[in-house]
Order: sequence, then C-alpha cells, then structure tokens
Amino acid sequence: MCKKIIYYLLCISLVVGCTKKETLENDINTLIEEDKNILVGINYPITGFKTLDNQIRTDIETIYDKFKNEYENFNSISEKSELNIDYTYDIVNETYINICVHIFVDSSTLAHPYDYMKSYVYNIKKKKLMTIKDILEESDLQKFTSLVTTALIQNYSECILLDELKNRVTAKYESFELFTFDTETITIYFNPGEITASYCDIVSVEIPISKFNIKIELEKEKRKSVSKEIDIQTKVIDPNQKVVALTFDDGPSKYTKEIIKYLHEQDAVATFFILGNKVEIYSDTLRESISYGNELGNHSYNHKWLTKLEADELLLQIDKTQSIIYETTGYKPTVFRPTYGSINSTIRNNINLDIILWNVDTMDWKYKSVDKIVARATNNIKDGDIILMHDTYKRTYDAVKKIVPILKKQGFQFVTISELKEINLLRNEIDNN
Ligand code: ZN
Repeated sequence: MCKKIIYYLLCISLVVGCTKKETLENDINTLIEEDKNILVGINYPITGFKTLDNQIRTDIETIYDKFKNEYENFNSISEKSELNIDYTYDIVNETYINICVHIFVDSSTLAHPYDYMKSYVYNIKKKKLMTIKDILEESDLQKFTSLVTTALIQNYSECILLDELKNRVTAKYESFELFTFDTETITIYFNPGEITASYCDIVSVEIPISKFNIKIELEKEKRKSVSKEIDIQTKVIDPNQKVVALTFDDGPSKYTKEIIKYLHEQDAVATFFILGNKVEIYSDTLRESISYGNELGNHSYNHKWLTKLEADELLLQIDKTQSIIYETTGYKPTVFRPTYGSINSTIRNNINLDIILWNVDTMDWKYKSVDKIVARATNNIKDGDIILMHDTYKRTYDAVKKIVPILKKQGFQFVTISELKEINLLRNEIDNN
C-alpha cells in the first residue's frame, strides 16, 4: 500500500517535472525604501524562469541585508547612505537570456561610492544558469584569453593595473566569471578592484563570437517593431468644478494595468511618474494608459538619489528615460518628479521639465492598511491638490477603488498634472477678465 502511494507520487512528480513548461513572464519587482539613515531603490526582474529568478532574488536579498546591517544604524550628520540596484535584460533568442544586475552603494563612511555588477546567463530549454564553459571549448581558451587581454589594454590603458591583469586573467574558465553573449559577441566584464583600482568603473570588452567554434547553436531572431500611433481620448473639464490630481510613482508594475482599467471605467485619469528601466517591459500598459488620457511623467531611469549626482549623470537619468518613453510609445513627458522628493540647484538648473511634487502623501509605501491609505487620500482634500501614491502595491490598487468614488461624491473631477496647470491658467484668465 505504502509502496504504491510512493510509486504513485513519484509518477505525478515525474509528469509534472517533465511537462511543465516555463514561459517568459517579464515582470519587474521594485522596492523603494526611505528610512532615517538609508535610501533604498531596488529593481530586479521576474522572468518566470524559476532557477534564474531564485538565484537573482537570493543574491539581491544578501546584498540588501548586508547593506542594512552596515548602514541602517549609521547616523551620518552629512547624509544618508544609499543602495541602488538596477538591471539590464537581453533576450538573445528562444533559448538564451542575459541579465546584468548593477549594484551601487554610497555612504559617507566610504572613500568613494562603489558600483559593481553580477551577470546571469540562462538557458531556457535546459533550465540552467550557464558559465562560459558552456560556450567556449577548452582548446579555444588560450586564444580567447589573449584577445580579452589585448582588448582590455587597448581600451582601458589609463586604468588597467597590468600585474593584476596578468594574475587575474589567465587561460582558465574561472577568469571569465562575468559575461553575457549575443549572436555576434561574447562580452566579458570585470568589477572595480579586480584588474583596475577600486574607484574605477566596471570594464568590459566584446569579443567576436565568429572567431571560435562555440558549443551552442545561435539563431538570430527578428524583434517586433512597435507602431507609434495611439488614439488618445479627449474629455471636457469644467473649470468651475473642483479638481484633484492623482499621481503614481515608481511604476509601472503588474498592478498598473488594473489601476488604469479601473480609472477608465470611472472616467478618471491620473499622472504616472515612471522609471525608464520599466518602460519596455510594460510598453503595452503604457500605450493603453496614454490612450485613456493619462499623463506619463519622468521619475528618472532607475530611481537613483538624484541630488547626489553631477549634472551629466543627472541628465543621463532624465534623457535616457525621455528617449525610451518616446521610442516605445511616441509620447513625450513634460513633467518630472524627483526621486525621494528631493531637489537641489543642479536639478533646478538642468532639467527642462516641470518639477512636480505633491501636497497630499498617502504613505501607501508604509501603511499596509487600505483604509488608512483611503483616509489620507480623502480627508480634507482641497481644490487643486496633488495626491501621491505608488502603483507598485496591490493595496494601492485596492485603495484607489475606494478613493475615486469618495472624491467623486465630494464633487471632484480627476485631472492630470498638465490639465491641472491648464485649469489654473484658465481660471486666472477668467479672474482677470
Ligand atoms: Zn519614487
């Protein structure tokens, strides 16, 4: 009897194990935290491939815990400590996927901020994380090593430490721990301090794949191009009636689609201050959002603490986000909301977009209770108020479904930030006439 059950269970697990096909999920998890001593902005991918997702999540949890242990109780008079994690994502074809996770840590205890990365190359069909050994034949290692070494010296002559390079980069698979590849090149990366001084940037070199008899098959795939035409619905706003602007930061996320669908049913709109690194993944949601008359605003590329950045880095955060939104949706944001709501003169002098803060904070990132969020968004709301929320939480979506009917009952019309500005201008004109 017992044996039979075990045998039966074994059969089930075998069947499940063999037939369950993992499919690409392509989602992104965001964690934004602001505490007395620390600022945390983490974005990491959910691919739907278990082995890969688990490995990335475990690595990120380790980095996050370590950062918190080190800096949570470190009270600096000058400034908070910052952890920012972001990633790039590249689907090579049906079989392979590359992910690079970038980690940035800054604190006044450090001589300089440090940036480093981890790479993940995944074989979807074999459900396995790959190493360079899965690609290169051992007989090619010597040739590959000398190509990498030459390219590093050529491209980074000012920062490469030659002794470190000689010791670290030898004809062994272990020398090439950080890598990605596509149909044309293998890219090798080294973190600061490996073959360069610790204050240097990550270095990388691309080696043409055609020079080697690689162990894998590579077929090129064409990417779909998106059409840019979106039909935007028009609406009428009564300047004599009260208005309120709902705004959502840090998205899009898997909840955004639900939120915009609900708003649309309610004939309401909002402004979404989005992160550039999420635009491609959620391009469909964003296009739908625009078509419903919502506004998209710029909230930086990966939620870095912007007041800490030099002008060129700041502009990169903003411009990269503007271009990816435009390339993906054809939409050009005109409003910007700074991360952590902090502004300085570099931001004021360099950003060509309207800087928008808020005057009602729902604290939805902190309060787990839907009713508390609803109360903060509906008590004592005045004409022209801007309400801050985050479309990265399920509870915020639940709260929105209560907030909208209550505010409607109070006589509010929902407007985007740009519409709010227009209304204010119009009302001024009426007053002056
Ligand atoms: Zn934010």
